[in-house]
Amino acid sequence: MSSTPADPDHRAHPDAVVEWFDSHCHLQTEYLAGDQGKEPDQPGAHAEPHASRLAGAIARASEAGVTRMVCVGTDAATSAEAVELARAMARADSVATAEGIQMWATIGLHPHDAINGVLTLDSILAAELPDPRGGSATDKSSTIVVGIGECGLDYHYDHSPRDVQRAAFAAQIELALGHRLTLVVHTREAWDDTIDILAATGVGLAPGIFFGPGSEGYLRACVCRAPDVLSEAMGRLGPALS
Ligand SMILES: [Zn+2]
Repeated sequence: MSSTPADPDHRAHPDAVVEWFDSHCHLQTEYLAGDQGKEPDQPGAHAEPHASRLAGAIARASEAGVTRMVCVGTDAATSAEAVELARAMARADSVATAEGIQMWATIGLHPHDAINGVLTLDSILAAELPDPRGGSATDKSSTIVVGIGECGLDYHYDHSPRDVQRAAFAAQIELALGHRLTLVVHTREAWDDTIDILAATGVGLAPGIFFGPGSEGYLRACVCRAPDVLSEAMGRLGPALS
């Protein structure tokens, strides 16, 4: 795998290798469900649809120094695909294993799809996560699913009504708290409500909160607003914010 024994010259070397953790990718939608018309190039690659494209993405990530990835779900279907992909990539003979990359998944409902209702996640949650009140689940599943989301608020597109977005967001915060999982947040033009809802749920007790990118324009806005918005958020939410 990617970790190597300590090298006394490693830290002093100007070209020291940096390992990147890609905490937010959607390889499942691009390489599984979103490309139904193409056939795998390699005979016997049926277990990994579109295997050659996936292998290319994994190889490029590895070449850039990525050693860990989280494949993020946006609704019931893409969450199930994220789990399927992460589980396939955990196998000893997978392209990710060959490249020294570990992959995990999240289960969540994007604010665009909030109108579907968080209950649509029930079956995938029941299949993949232990009952937080002490039910049974396998160790294998608990190591594949590491977060809830992406969830949040998107007032730019308003694909779902805002009150529905807020309710779905709050419900998924409760899921993250109940399962002791990291929360993956998508927020766009809705910072005030986002922080208010996070604070109201006592989410500072969650293992972590990741704010995910929405678009290039969003990223620029996020960077511009980060100092004031995030400093306030840190004050209200505590050290769980990442
Ligand atoms: Zn995303």
